[in-house]
Amino acid sequence: MTRVGSVTRWLAVGALLAGAAAAQPPAMRIEVEAPPTLAGVATRVAAEVPDLQGVQALLGDAPLPARVRVVLAEQDSPEGRSAPTWVSGYALPAIDTIVLFPARVPAYPDRNLPTLLAHELAHLLVDHAAGGHRMPRWFEEGVATVAAREWGLEDSARFAAAVIGPGPGTLRAVDEGFVRDAGQVARSYALSSALVRHLLRRSGKDAIARILARVRQGEPFDVAFERTSGLPLGSFEQDFFGREVFWRTWVPFLSGSAALWMLITALALLAIWRRRRLDAAQRAAWEAEEGVPALPPDEPPDRREWVH
Ligand SMILES: [Zn+2]
Repeated sequence: MTRVGSVTRWLAVGALLAGAAAAQPPAMRIEVEAPPTLAGVATRVAAEVPDLQGVQALLGDAPLPARVRVVLAEQDSPEGRSAPTWVSGYALPAIDTIVLFPARVPAYPDRNLPTLLAHELAHLLVDHAAGGHRMPRWFEEGVATVAAREWGLEDSARFAAAVIGPGPGTLRAVDEGFVRDAGQVARSYALSSALVRHLLRRSGKDAIARILARVRQGEPFDVAFERTSGLPLGSFEQDFFGREVFWRTWVPFLSGSAALWMLITALALLAIWRRRRLDAAQRAAWEAEEGVPALPPDEPPDRREWVH
């Protein structure tokens, strides 16, 4: 980390990020700027610039921006007022700038500032790797989310909720979800991430890098996608929303240990309930025939069924 000094009203902190290989010289300079009120946060952000080797492995040997500005902004700044409250950060690839709102972290899918910064840096790197060509939102967001961190339990839960509930069922609906309310945005993030992971499993670890290289050379995204994966985008979409969702959500749920124990518990409760009804019916019959005394009224009716 190199401190570059203060500029009017803003604190500027610099950090150098090494290239993909350890032997390479630093390739990208990251400068963190913040108003004096966020100076402490800026120092921490600059000291914890995420390791982007994972991102670069995903994107291949694509060109890197020489300098990235990371602007930390307050809620009531012009940047803060112009972005919806659930946006905790955004990237401006055309000017290699990232704006982060520390007060809005954590929010799914990035629960802390270093992960959020990794996500936004991935957006800039994807833009450079694609030669500035825009790609579908699900692809850009999926790559950024996959690059920023590992898939976790919350992703699984949100993915399951999105596909079991009334979530998006097409790539287009995933894209549209990113500009709706916070709930739909979270669903679209989870699905984008799952889509990109599905693509990597299907077409190899270098699939993203190969698609980006083709797009950088001028191929339309759909063509680059099909030539890389051997599958038209429409078939990939059907494969994901049909087979993949079924095997990744319904089958694990129905065959999982949690479901098994729920089933066993339900069957046990049903057996106990039926036994109690039979007991009560038999006791009533005995009482009627032989005058057997009933249980005392303060005795819990299911006392005999408890086992510890
Ligand atoms: Zn993003």
